[in-house]
Amino acid sequence: MPTSGSHTSPRIVHEIAELKAAVRAARAAGRQIGVVPTMGALHEGHLSLVDAARQDCDFIVATIFVNPTQFGPGEDFSKYPRTLARDVELLSPRGVDLVFAPEASAIYGPEHVTKVILDGPALSLEGDARPTHFAGVATIVLKLFNLVQPDRAYFGRKDFQQAMVVQRMVADLDVPVEVIVCPTVREPDGLAMSSRNVYLSPEERRRALSLSQSLSLAKQLLARGELNVATIQQRMREVLAAADAEIDYVAICSSTTLAPLTHIDGPAVALIAARIGKTRLIDNELLNEGTPDGPGKGPAGPRKG
Ligand code: AMP
Repeated sequence: MPTSGSHTSPRIVHEIAELKAAVRAARAAGRQIGVVPTMGALHEGHLSLVDAARQDCDFIVATIFVNPTQFGPGEDFSKYPRTLARDVELLSPRGVDLVFAPEASAIYGPEHVTKVILDGPALSLEGDARPTHFAGVATIVLKLFNLVQPDRAYFGRKDFQQAMVVQRMVADLDVPVEVIVCPTVREPDGLAMSSRNVYLSPEERRRALSLSQSLSLAKQLLARGELNVATIQQRMREVLAAADAEIDYVAICSSTTLAPLTHIDGPAVALIAARIGKTRLIDNELLNEGTPDGPGKGPAGPRKG
């Protein structure tokens, strides 16, 4: 059970040396360390990861860093919401011990050139649409793992492919951390919580519901016995098109490898990326939940039961 951090303001550190000293002291005191990497502009989705971390760990580090290297040219890096004071307010009652909110210059020195090279599940879908994205994600996540040296790290299934890429990296590079993937937190009407939802006008916010509706339809069709992926994807596209969503991809893939499927005969995930106005949103749903190997547990690698 957690022994520290509950209902007190977390310590906020901006410098690597301070972070390392605090984590070293926690480890010396025998604490289990959990890290929740975020880009800030926190919502209940992020906070659910903190809650999960508090179940298993007794020193929780939340990182808040809008990582420039995972944004491509023309993406929303400069306008991405930055709300540190509010984020700390939201984290305080959730029992976070330390918030690490570095400047980019503390993370990427002037001579920084090294990146993680990815293959396999990093290449399709988001990897197609945003070719430099996952190298940026994997590199910052590996750096944060090296800085914090957590026992466990918490990611959201909202970013299904990202979680899979991180789990693959951890397994392939023998990174000594347990990756735990937590369920997507949604608004009451089904919209997946996202820091980017603040970009949506009220009218776009309504149209954005087409993503979760299209995923629900996929689940319904499967429940009624439709196993043909092309048929399900076509119906999903119709829901998105009716809301004037500009589709980047609609995919149904193996939830353990992210290989595209033509027929649903095992653990599967439906994934969508679509633009509502200027805002690019992603969402996904596990299909055939209950299949022992995939659904509910996140992609390959260590997972929470
Ligand atoms: P971000 O700040 O968008 O980089 O997200 C930080 C972490 O929070 C990632 O592991 C995300 O997958 C996770 N996350 C974001 N939105 C949600 C959500 N609605 N439900 C659960 N986890 C989420």
